[in-house]
Amino acid sequence: MTVRVRLAPSPTGNLHIGTARTGVFNWLFARHEGGQFILRIEDTDEERSKPEFTESILSGLKWLGLDWDEGPSFQSQRLDLYRQAIQTLLDQGLAYRAYDTPDELEAMREAQKAKNQAPRYDNRHRDLTLDQQAAFEAEGRPAVIRFKIDDSRTITWNDMVRGPVTWQASDLGGDMVVARASSATTIGQPLYNLAVVVDDIDMAISHVIRGEDHIANTAKQILLYEALGAAVPEFAHTPLILNQSGQKLSKRDGVTSIGDFQKMGFVAPALANYMTLLGWSAPDAAEQFTLEEAAKQFSFDRVNKAGAKFDWDKLDWLNSQYLHNLEAAELLALAQPFLEAAGHRLSDADQLWLLPVMGLLGPSLTRLTDVVEQSRFFVSETVPFTDDARAQVQLDGVPAVLESIVAGLTETSPQTLDDLKALVNEVTKAQGVKKGLVMKSLRAALMGALQGPDLMESWLILRQRGFDVARLQTALALV
Ligand code: GLU
Repeated sequence: MTVRVRLAPSPTGNLHIGTARTGVFNWLFARHEGGQFILRIEDTDEERSKPEFTESILSGLKWLGLDWDEGPSFQSQRLDLYRQAIQTLLDQGLAYRAYDTPDELEAMREAQKAKNQAPRYDNRHRDLTLDQQAAFEAEGRPAVIRFKIDDSRTITWNDMVRGPVTWQASDLGGDMVVARASSATTIGQPLYNLAVVVDDIDMAISHVIRGEDHIANTAKQILLYEALGAAVPEFAHTPLILNQSGQKLSKRDGVTSIGDFQKMGFVAPALANYMTLLGWSAPDAAEQFTLEEAAKQFSFDRVNKAGAKFDWDKLDWLNSQYLHNLEAAELLALAQPFLEAAGHRLSDADQLWLLPVMGLLGPSLTRLTDVVEQSRFFVSETVPFTDDARAQVQLDGVPAVLESIVAGLTETSPQTLDDLKALVNEVTKAQGVKKGLVMKSLRAALMGALQGPDLMESWLILRQRGFDVARLQTALALV
């Protein structure tokens, strides 16, 4: 059997982390099995579907490296196919037109509530006579098309994640609406459960892999496969992504879309790597891998049933590992949009000092946004002083140290890291102070802060930019 899987996002919002993770599992399975990964945009909800969300989904998937083999196809362009299937169901007596008004449906629900029953459609229009139907039409009532659900059925499937799953058809809420806004002669807007089944049959999908929030839909959809005379695919329902308090990760947790993670400074390979770990673990317990490496080992046997807790520390750690291993030029390419967004207008000449800055900062980064924070020391000739840096340069003996550094710089014009280290040693000796004091004071004077990247390397970059003497003099002017 050729494995064919699909991701079927609805463009009613930006690419969501849950959808992206479902995409990752589909992709891993397809690649592991040498099958195909198909992208289908489920845009039948005309009001909520927007082209910019489709754009966000496509670009987000590409950014993560989830390339697809077919599609994207759009459900809105396939409505005739769904209507044909509905017509087949009608012709076979497996579906019918129902004319209940919203008020009647509401009254039905109220009555059920009063009797402590679960809300369901009571199938009251299942066997309308032609005369009754004509009377409703004459009243101008619109129809919906309902698919008959045999309440006596038990539906079971062997879920690739959850094992055997059983549903009683009587728990599915009665005959289900497969199309809205219809009339005696027309079929209106086809709905999700019908469209998804028609598409999965038409696209020969072998395995349906999606979030566990679709389990009840799967039970309904299996009945539709049977009614349409099609083979039922395999199903895998992936666990929900939970926040730290065990609830479904939502907008309230501050991030939901892949674009949010991008803006926070996560890089695509790290985020994709992290998403594979949201519910799956590698047989060799490895935690750091590319999507291709994960695909080699991927199987649903190792996907958990329980919800997957979102672990920011682990994502940060993975991101830092990727950033630490980048070449300065690669890091600069990734960091440049962040620097520009922070208001730095960078010219080609800036690359000269930015490259060593990237080399310096790379090993200590967690997120790309840290580059903006950390490169502030190198951007312009002067830097603001923190209170403790100001206090440091004003300590007894420190001005003399800084003056002799300035003198040394003018006399010997050091050019290398070794030259600068030699100058520090000389000044330490000549002033009869501790080396620690010299280093701390230099840091305060050069960087305007007591914390920051490696001092000597920072100094060399500032020196190459021609900033160091000016900064030392600014510090001395504070005294
Ligand atoms: N459009 C559905 C969603 O975004 C797809 C569900 C499915 O994969 O069948 O949740």
